[in-house]
Amino acid sequence: MLTEGLSYHLLDGKAASKAIRDRIAEQAAEVTAKRGRPPHLAAVLVGEDGASRTYVNSKVRACEKAGFRSTLIELNADISEEELLEQVDALNKDPELDGFIVQLPLPQHVNEDKITLAIDPTKDVDGFHPENLGRMVLGLSGFLPATPAGVVELLRHFEVPTSGKHCVVVGRSNIVGTPMSILMSRNADPGNCTVTITHSRTKDLAAITRQADILIPAIGKPEFITADMVKEGAVVVDVGIHRVQDSSRQKGFRLVGDVKFDEVAPKCSWISPVPGGVGPMTITSLLLNTLKACQIN
Ligand code: NDP
Repeated sequence: MLTEGLSYHLLDGKAASKAIRDRIAEQAAEVTAKRGRPPHLAAVLVGEDGASRTYVNSKVRACEKAGFRSTLIELNADISEEELLEQVDALNKDPELDGFIVQLPLPQHVNEDKITLAIDPTKDVDGFHPENLGRMVLGLSGFLPATPAGVVELLRHFEVPTSGKHCVVVGRSNIVGTPMSILMSRNADPGNCTVTITHSRTKDLAAITRQADILIPAIGKPEFITADMVKEGAVVVDVGIHRVQDSSRQKGFRLVGDVKFDEVAPKCSWISPVPGGVGPMTITSLLLNTLKACQIN
């Protein structure tokens, strides 16, 4: 059924997350009863990036609401790479901890790859470690990267058909675009798409995005996808999230995605909003991964 007054369905990540997190809370209570301590997630925040702090705070709040224990570890921006590696090592060895994340981006002087590689894959609930990415490619059990897994869960929740569809992913980053393309092409439901992955060197991007039955922009450019780039009836899942200045808002900014929502939405069968689309689903995936970690650790 269409949302009243709209010509499209909304891929409402808030509503989907609420339903999934209610189930997660039930399972968390079972874990707590069985082993005498709740699922425990830690988040490491380095420096004072405003957006990163907002994301981490949302993750911590979501944990608490689902009955998890959460620990926030705040470190100064001038922490050395070695000290951060020591912190990661301590978390790897902490028997009371099921999983942890190191919020990206890290300060320039810290090599993000080194930190990611140092995380114990059995506690890597962001799913960024090469072992978990390799497991995903091979279809083995492991932690899926939180944002692409959140997109899959969003499509699953609203029972959006994907099999045989042409899915175009815009962006090829290691944490979003590339794993997204793999998940959509897997022999799974949701999945079984024919996938095209595009990037900044793609020629005539609009000609390709217009072929998409399912379009997943993960570009990092505010309102980049316009109506002329989208096919009538397409499903659009907007991964992008940006703060744009808006003096009419109390905070001085508003959030927009990679998609120009107002002009694209009327062409879509389904579209995710920003905020309230993929963002909450990313956090939900993190909780799902942490629950999974309780079975391993
Ligand atoms: P990256 O900057 O790492 O990657 C962006 C990708 O977009 C690159 O592959 C780049 O191509 C491609 N790209 C850039 N410009 C163009 C263009 N003009 N045409 C086609 N492709 C282009 O970003 P991320 O993947 O980390 O994030 C993408 C977006 O998703 C961001 O807005 C980010 O904030 C958001 N995000 C949201 C999350 C959520 O929970 N909702 C979580 C994570 C990210 P190339 O490789 O050639 O440079």
